[in-house]
Amino acid sequence: MNQAPARTGRGKLLKGATGDFEVVIGLEVHAQVTSNAKLFSGASTAFGGEPNAHVSLVDAALPGMLPVINEECIAQAVRTGLGLKAKINLRSVFDRKNYFYPDLPQGYQISQYKQPIVGEGTVTVDLPDGEQISVGIERLHLEQDAGKSIHDQHASMSLVDLNRSGVALMEIVSKPDLRSAEEAKAFVTKLRSILRTLGTCDGDMEKGNLRADVNVSVRRPGEDLGTRCEIKNVNSIRFLGQAVDYEARRQIGVIEDGGMIQQETRLFDPVRNETRPMRTKEEAHDYRYFPDPDLLPLEFDQAFVDGLAASLPELPDARKARFVAEHGLSAYDADVLVAEKESADYFEAVAKGRDAKTAANWVINELFGRLNREGKGIEASPVSSAQLGAVLDLIAEGVISGKIAKDVFEIVWAEGGDPRAVVEARGLKQVTDTGAIEAIVDRIIADNPAKAAEVAAKPAMLGWFVGQVMKASGGKANPQAVNELLKAKLGL
Ligand code: ADP
Ligand code: MG
Repeated sequence: MNQAPARTGRGKLLKGATGDFEVVIGLEVHAQVTSNAKLFSGASTAFGGEPNAHVSLVDAALPGMLPVINEECIAQAVRTGLGLKAKINLRSVFDRKNYFYPDLPQGYQISQYKQPIVGEGTVTVDLPDGEQISVGIERLHLEQDAGKSIHDQHASMSLVDLNRSGVALMEIVSKPDLRSAEEAKAFVTKLRSILRTLGTCDGDMEKGNLRADVNVSVRRPGEDLGTRCEIKNVNSIRFLGQAVDYEARRQIGVIEDGGMIQQETRLFDPVRNETRPMRTKEEAHDYRYFPDPDLLPLEFDQAFVDGLAASLPELPDARKARFVAEHGLSAYDADVLVAEKESADYFEAVAKGRDAKTAANWVINELFGRLNREGKGIEASPVSSAQLGAVLDLIAEGVISGKIAKDVFEIVWAEGGDPRAVVEARGLKQVTDTGAIEAIVDRIIADNPAKAAEVAAKPAMLGWFVGQVMKASGGKANPQAVNELLKAKLGL
């Protein structure tokens, strides 16, 4: 059963003591559906309410209550399936997955097993080195989330909060098509971007609204798939990379010591940066799935699907292609911008009516650089797209140089305000008055007779003079005027 072909390109193999190994990864991503109400009840899905404030009789599983499917959750799953270029199943079935846990009052989770709402699809993923891979989607199914057990608020009791109980989740299962921690991270990043663009999941990993079970195995190149371990509930992209790397290394160590990998469920501990066993296959649950007798099979027609397809927003791949074709951006820059919907929106607002490449450079280098240094996301940027646009206008009009523009950006970042007014108030306007520049040029030449004598033989020295004049003018002299004046005065 070698259904997963080897991809052994640059940097994809891990070196063991006895030779190379290939890592194989498949993900089961749980994405909380964006909806006002839960999957089978009218209770609110709002985050952060008082414990047990959003719990209907259905969510608390009181006897005799019946689940009623929320049509918006179905629409969200179909939209997501379309965004994953996947087969939409017009008929699917809800099953009971039976297990006992204090935060699961029904004693079973309503899920989809053999007949999910969405079948096979694909996600195209761009890697940092420019390579593009295609990752297969096995299925997407709808299921209920469980509640939360709280063990640290009472000396002798555990408490249960059912606010999350019954909230709709989409479980998105990838094929074992990923070959490195980098690929797994890029895949989840892309998937998150698709979901957020569709508006079907907010992608908030800190709140646990997007989390992944990570299946990892290793094999020698060309061999069949190895036995996998599943790392549960990884809730950050950085941890995902660390968990894969640690787990692959651990498995290679076991194999090279002559051991066998036990199929088991493990947990990633980010503090110690390691995975630890949780349960083995022998202790695994027998869920005794069966179709939920309270729910009819879920059926809708192609017209319902077509209607949703017609109103989908522009997805990241299409937006990236448009940025390249329409704005002349490089594929790399376009990719960086579409990774987050907010970044792409911000860029488009700045680029509107302006030079798009300059706009992309400023957004990617200055703005992202600054945001990263402070660990801020674009939605928290102190400089708005209108403010950055105004800075670019000032450069384009020759009012300030690119260098002064960076200072203006800093001032607006720290203090806010209209960039044009900032330039005016602080006297940052570029000096284009040649008389004023000429006086500085003359002074610098007079102060440096030895260098002025050398420059005829070494024209590269001109740069030194330009630098001195710019410095003396506080960066405000028009660089082109400086250049021309210096050339004329130095006889170049
Ligand atoms: P199960 O239903 O028992 O969890 P699945 O076949 O649904 O098993 O696989 C679950 C996940 O494990 C999928 O994402 C799949 O891609 C991944 N997977 C399956 N086999 C392997 C393997 N040998 N190595 C890594 N991942 C795997
Ligand atoms: Mg599974």
